[in-house]
Amino acid sequence: MRTVRLRGLLTGRARRRGALALAGALAVTLLAGSAAWAEDPLPPASMADGGLAVDANLGYKPQKTCSPTAKPGTKALLDLLIQTWGGSSWGISRSCASGGTSEHKEGRALDWHMDVNNASEKARVEQALEWMTANNGEVAYRLGIMYIMWDQRIWSIYYQEMGWRTFSDRGSYTANHKDHVHISLTWDGAMEQTSWWTGVPVTTPLLGPCGTTGQPACLPVINRAASPTWPFAHAQVGAFTPAAGDVPMIQGSPMVGQVLGVVPSRSMAGAVGYSYQWYAGGKPISGATASSLRVTTALRGKAIKVALRAALADGSTIAQNSPGTTAVTTGKVTLAPTPAISGVPALGHKLTTKASGWQPTGLKFAYQWYRNGKAIKGATKRGYTLRTADVGRWITVKVTGSASGVTARSALSAKIKALKTVPTPVTPDEPGPTLPVPPSPPSHDQTPPTASPTGPTATGTASGQPTPDPMGAASSPPSPAAADVVSADAPAPDAQPAVSPNAGATP
Ligand SMILES: [Zn+2]
Repeated sequence: MRTVRLRGLLTGRARRRGALALAGALAVTLLAGSAAWAEDPLPPASMADGGLAVDANLGYKPQKTCSPTAKPGTKALLDLLIQTWGGSSWGISRSCASGGTSEHKEGRALDWHMDVNNASEKARVEQALEWMTANNGEVAYRLGIMYIMWDQRIWSIYYQEMGWRTFSDRGSYTANHKDHVHISLTWDGAMEQTSWWTGVPVTTPLLGPCGTTGQPACLPVINRAASPTWPFAHAQVGAFTPAAGDVPMIQGSPMVGQVLGVVPSRSMAGAVGYSYQWYAGGKPISGATASSLRVTTALRGKAIKVALRAALADGSTIAQNSPGTTAVTTGKVTLAPTPAISGVPALGHKLTTKASGWQPTGLKFAYQWYRNGKAIKGATKRGYTLRTADVGRWITVKVTGSASGVTARSALSAKIKALKTVPTPVTPDEPGPTLPVPPSPPSHDQTPPTASPTGPTATGTASGQPTPDPMGAASSPPSPAAADVVSADAPAPDAQPAVSPNAGATP
């Protein structure tokens, strides 16, 4: 088979990311994402050398103290966002006298002014958010991001595998974060000492996840896989290794379809063996004595905990229980990365697609191919051979992931135009044929909330400082039962860590 080199197919960032997939292969890969506003920021040279591990999951560390001075990492990130994608600053520091929990009061949260109703600003923000959250949030980990709020949705490092989640209407355009992006950082991120800035991954939090000095990370880790969307393919991406705590900690989110693991406690260090018993709703789960637990539909509504017994080298044993998780919820399929179409887009050639990296693992997939947006009858396999009727038309494919106990979800690929003939082969030194690249391909799944904007409610304070996150009716601290009265900055209650850091470990 001849090697056909297709050039000019992809623009900007997409070209850079797709370069490996194209190299030496008779394949076209169109990734979601279109006109690049700017190149993503390049990582520091120390990171580009490769072999660098990713910072540990530093968990959710809400504001506990009063220290509103803008911290260096917060300033540096806000500057980087504005330099790269434009927009303006709505500030970092906030008076401790204002109500609610907010990392602004510790100088480790930023408000980046961009408006969701401005198409250009929205596109730029989306590019920035993709940069931060691609590859399971690798850049977010490297920057020490705890959570991001934008357009009435939240993405958090402690529920990373759930992706973007919509939060309840907080009553105003600004409180719903439609006119600014809010980013809260861990103390390490705020102090500019995560690997993005230093080249050295953080493994132990600067302050404990519960806000006290000397406490180890208490939140789950996630598994991540190398992903073609991460532009620095040589960067080493592996599972995180969390620090041990005083008691064993459950890793992973208590959702149907997820696999939970356990991190032994500090006093179990050097153990020569472990035994496990998992509990649901306070009762031992029959046969659940392995080091991990797959969360099944039968466990829905129940809190999970694990009793861990460690055999030490000196013959003694330590038995401890983990804190209980929150009640197991219905699982949700995560849709990133968006499935791409591979193959030569010409009559008689076969296109294929694949959804890889979706969570939870073990999903069943269904496919539907479309011609100019209309379902093609019978085209429901992973591959589709282009017919005469397709020539000159846009082809897309919808991939649906499903599993028992998990809400099925779908994602649509980017469009690809079907041609009559294979593009002329070119040598690497000649300009190649240019295939049409569609404008911004629509995402058919993550429909943004349709709440009509009521206009910005940010008003100046007496000092003239804008207060983009007005507390409004938000004087109560976040509470799982009070979805609508949390502060404009606090993560949505459904975004609280799965494992309560302070939960006791009663058997
Ligand atoms: Zn904010």
